[in-house]
Amino acid sequence: MPSTTIFAAQRERLEAERDALLAEIAALERERASREESAGIGNVVAEEMMETLVRERDLALRSNARDLLEQVNAALRRIDEGTYGICADCGEPIPLERLEALPYATLCVRCQAARERARRW
Ligand SMILES: [Zn+2]
Repeated sequence: MPSTTIFAAQRERLEAERDALLAEIAALERERASREESAGIGNVVAEEMMETLVRERDLALRSNARDLLEQVNAALRRIDEGTYGICADCGEPIPLERLEALPYATLCVRCQAARERARRW
């Protein structure tokens, strides 16, 4: 059975996740655009500071959503290529329970833990 069939449910989840992320990014873009239109009405320093804070928050949200979207797209590519569900570090299959919890996981739990330990040092 080709992995594309085995992972049909995962693909559906990833595609739903991708659509949700795209909608989220689009909503943030629209919100920003409408805020920019209404900007320039007031000229108080506090308002400008508020604007900056809001803009920074949006930027963080958008880049989170984009990061996630990139991971989701990469997972969909791996399903197509037949490398989905295989740990990128040790080449062992990633347990299905982990994939169900985290459909775009690229590492098994052990390798993920090892990387996180390495990052702390
Ligand atoms: Zn591994």
